[in-house]
Amino acid sequence: MPELPEVETTVRGLERVLDGRRLARVEPRRADLRRAFPVDLGQRLTGATVTSLGRRAKFGLIGTDRGDTMVFHLGMSGHWRIDPDELDKHDHLLLETDDGRRLALNDARRFGSVDLVATDALGDWRPIAALGPDALGPDLDAGWFKRRFDGRNAPVKALLLDQRIIAGLGNIYACESLHRAGIHPARAAGSISLQRLARLAAAIPQVLGEAVAAGGSSLRDFVSPDGTLGYFSARFTAYDREGKPCACGGRVKRIVQGGRSTFYCPRCQK
Ligand SMILES: [Zn+2]
Repeated sequence: MPELPEVETTVRGLERVLDGRRLARVEPRRADLRRAFPVDLGQRLTGATVTSLGRRAKFGLIGTDRGDTMVFHLGMSGHWRIDPDELDKHDHLLLETDDGRRLALNDARRFGSVDLVATDALGDWRPIAALGPDALGPDLDAGWFKRRFDGRNAPVKALLLDQRIIAGLGNIYACESLHRAGIHPARAAGSISLQRLARLAAAIPQVLGEAVAAGGSSLRDFVSPDGTLGYFSARFTAYDREGKPCACGGRVKRIVQGGRSTFYCPRCQK
């Protein structure tokens, strides 16, 4: 499932192909993903020039000179393919540029979405307006966590996954950040000292930044046979390592919290 680093890597890959290009053709190949495509998606984007690419949490943003931004979400299985040799049945949206490049949004499980939003009202668009500050943004320091977690008895991991509190942190990188910070995932969020929150505040951008860098290096050869963008093999220290050794000499354990697997080390996470 794509998390923030995969979306960031995808956006950077799309930027190389789309930035400054005119969209010669925009073709939805079905009516919907998780929700309907805008009915006039093709008309509104064909002929537009791409002026910016960006990301907000796990939304990718493709800005155009028509005052609209195409907002995509990759859902569970979405990815963009660049210059695919052949289209397959899960390529649900096609873009062609004026210099002959072809992009396909492929989403077998169709939990993704594509919307057109007025660029100057993006911050008020409901799915974005509801989000907390970006997990890679500048706002998250120890004091910020202290204020947000104050009086909360919920497990710290549950609050890290709440997109209204922090936007863009998913299960994998919440596990990895807590592991790096030495904080037990089930600890009551309000009980964590300022000093330990400072470690968490430092760990989140480190862990995400390293994954973005790993994705960036995978971009060098992103023209894989099917042109898939944005997926790379990040190295995890806790996630999906049940029973495997931790650097501290302990062993990684798996528990289930809120229906999701949590991986942590009982020896170095308190
Ligand atoms: Zn450990």
